[in-house]
Amino acid sequence: MADDTSVRVAVRIRPQVPREIIDMCHVCTTVASGEPQVWLGKDKAFTFDHVFDMPSLQEEVYYTCIKDLIEGCFDGYNATVFAYGQTSSGKTYTMGTGFNLSLNAEERGIIPRAVEHLFIGIHERQRQAREKGEPPPEFKVNAQFMELYNEEIIDLLDPAKEAEERVKKSQIKIHEDSKGDIYTVGVTTRNASSPEETLQCLKNGALSRTTASTNMNAQSSRSHAIFTLHIKQQRVVFMEPPESNISDENLDKPAPTQNGEVLNEFETLTAKFHFVDLAGSERLKRTGATGDRAKEGISINCGLLALGNVISALGDKSRKVTHVPYRDSKLTRLLQDSLGGNSRTLMIACISPSDRDFMETLNTLKYANRAK
Ligand code: ADP
Ligand code: MG
Repeated sequence: MADDTSVRVAVRIRPQVPREIIDMCHVCTTVASGEPQVWLGKDKAFTFDHVFDMPSLQEEVYYTCIKDLIEGCFDGYNATVFAYGQTSSGKTYTMGTGFNLSLNAEERGIIPRAVEHLFIGIHERQRQAREKGEPPPEFKVNAQFMELYNEEIIDLLDPAKEAEERVKKSQIKIHEDSKGDIYTVGVTTRNASSPEETLQCLKNGALSRTTASTNMNAQSSRSHAIFTLHIKQQRVVFMEPPESNISDENLDKPAPTQNGEVLNEFETLTAKFHFVDLAGSERLKRTGATGDRAKEGISINCGLLALGNVISALGDKSRKVTHVPYRDSKLTRLLQDSLGGNSRTLMIACISPSDRDFMETLNTLKYANRAK
């Protein structure tokens, strides 16, 4: 990331689905050529960091927006990618959260590609170190998969419990340590030492998410799914020779020995990467929700609302020290140390091209516009 904006926004327009073609829906979105600008109808234009039109491929989305975020993890930068948009706008397809075995390699979403890239990067760094005769860096990758539903945190990797029980007895707590790092207590953490193992976690979690949904008569469209990779790297740092080793920060480090041999010390770098498939952003009004549905709708809006406020506070450069309302929802609290600061954040606003979704698409583009 070359500039100082920690939040970037991309828009992705999915192709029309068969139903929309059968119903002869019109395409009401246009992408300006050579510009990351999307037009909705004839008079509403929005400009973002990236705009992916209907024919765009998964690979293109990955290489344009995500690849660098994975590279950043090797230098200890946290990252968060969100997929935002109404139900059936392409969030799960883009993110790759619904583990669909029938998808071919080209159709794989962001998570499987990121996982593959991460492990290639690990092996590459180890190989380079060995070639130079240096001790290779050691990596430890862990995976967590959570669902946020009605301000409850559900552990999708917990195999022991029934779906209903997982929801009812959710004992997961979010804490902040003295350095401002956020950590969770009571969440299953799986060791992910290969791409296969990591993707198995994704698959297991995606499966238990669907089970929970069916049993509770709730759809995944009303919950946020958060897949997190924790990357810990331990590498040897070679000390500078004595004459240049005079800055304050080096004073407490061991000096090279008298025969000029350079002493090594270990450096530990950690990074977190959150992949968030957000709840559908459609409005409560349109679904005509009452009772429990209404309650769900309200708390979903609470997470999305808080996220919108946090992201727009982060993007507001005019207010120097601003209050960022992380504590307004579990979602923003959980992601607190991975939004803003040294973290890289990407919001992918997913939209339908069809005219019957015009109003929802407009709402999505407005929400995404606040994040810039
Ligand atoms: P959401 O998660 O936002 O509810 P989905 O990801 O489930 O939406 O997408 C809805 C439908 O559209 C699915 O059948 C999905 O396969 C299809 N779809 C979404 N985006 C694309 C795309 N870029 N290319 C092809 N099909 C897509
Ligand atoms: Mg989905």
